[in-house]
Amino acid sequence: MSRRWRDRAACKGEDLVLFYGPGEGEPRETPQEKEARVQRAKQICRSCLAQMDCLDFHLQVSAAQYGVAGGLDEDERRAYRRRMQRKTARERRSP
Ligand code: SF4
Repeated sequence: MSRRWRDRAACKGEDLVLFYGPGEGEPRETPQEKEARVQRAKQICRSCLAQMDCLDFHLQVSAAQYGVAGGLDEDERRAYRRRMQRKTARERRSP
């Protein structure tokens, strides 16, 4: 899978903490701080020309289990992946 979509990423040059949260050894954020941070990251994703490519990459290739990517947080990506798996299973079963 080509990663040229990264050239169009709206998050290029942004602080990674905004998308992935504080790193190990850094002060933890409160749930309210996390929610505000995630919403700011998703706002950037909404303006991103590479959003669908980024989402595809994070659903199919990336091992990232947390953080905002493709406009979705980790829980939303897991739910999206499950929906896609169910849809694929249904399509395989149908004649
Ligand atoms: S969708 Fe969001 S995380 Fe993905 S490249 Fe665009 S701005 Fe970055």
